[in-house]
Amino acid sequence: MAPRLRVGIDLGGTKIEGVVLDPDGAVVVRRRIATDQARGYAHIVATTAALVGELRSVAGDCEAIGIGTPGAVSTRTGLMKNCNTTCLNGRDLPGDLRRQLGLPVVVENDANCFALAEATTGAGRGARLVFGVIMGTGVGGGLVIDGRVWSGPQHIAGEWGHHAIDPQGPRCYCGQRGCVEMLISGPAVERRYADRTGARASMGEIVARARAGESAAREALDELLDRFGRALANLVSILDPDVIVLGGGLSNIDELYVDGRAAVARYVFNDELRTAIVRNVHGDSAGVLGAAMLV
Ligand SMILES: [Zn+2]
Repeated sequence: MAPRLRVGIDLGGTKIEGVVLDPDGAVVVRRRIATDQARGYAHIVATTAALVGELRSVAGDCEAIGIGTPGAVSTRTGLMKNCNTTCLNGRDLPGDLRRQLGLPVVVENDANCFALAEATTGAGRGARLVFGVIMGTGVGGGLVIDGRVWSGPQHIAGEWGHHAIDPQGPRCYCGQRGCVEMLISGPAVERRYADRTGARASMGEIVARARAGESAAREALDELLDRFGRALANLVSILDPDVIVLGGGLSNIDELYVDGRAAVARYVFNDELRTAIVRNVHGDSAGVLGAAMLV
């Protein structure tokens, strides 16, 4: 019997992406459609099911479908929680999709899918413990050990975005102050810059201005790098991963791999820093590739 193809879906806030992977992890087909979350939960489930149907006409027989999504399945209720596509929260997404598709589905957090793809065929390939970091509008993370996602008994492993690193820092929607997400996400840096200068600028503009020598932008970037160092050093001291792969919009900032890395070395509980801190290979596609690798 020929090895089976795998189907993965990345259910994002603006688009639903699907792929079919061959047994070597190469993409056979890729499809992308709008999420249109304003039309609600039932629409998202129906759209996802239709997309899976289309992919199965290519993939043929498959045993299960892997789904990556923001948030996680609550181990307490079995329902979705912590999704920024808020109409998914409190819903039985795995059950509803399983009933529509007539197939088992594996639902996993999208940062875990990112980490799985990078650990399997990306920047962390061959390493035993890979930590995937997402730094963009939000901050998240995922942990892969020996090629498998480690999500933990409460499905919160890797959620370093809500480690508080400044108890006097800005208040976070999770109820704490000074969470990593409140300090090193794109919107957080943009807010700090606006507070200093009274002017609004995007993360990309702030980095460009810092490189051109503007002092307020330089301070904002230096603060980002220092806090990145603190946050990642905590993580390295706890997990000591072989590789940390950076993803999300901020992973394109070159300074993270030099000055940011130096800041990690400054704060880590060790006399050296051997941990590889590297840029992702799969870019935006990591989530959907990782979803297919779940099955
Ligand atoms: Zn928080």
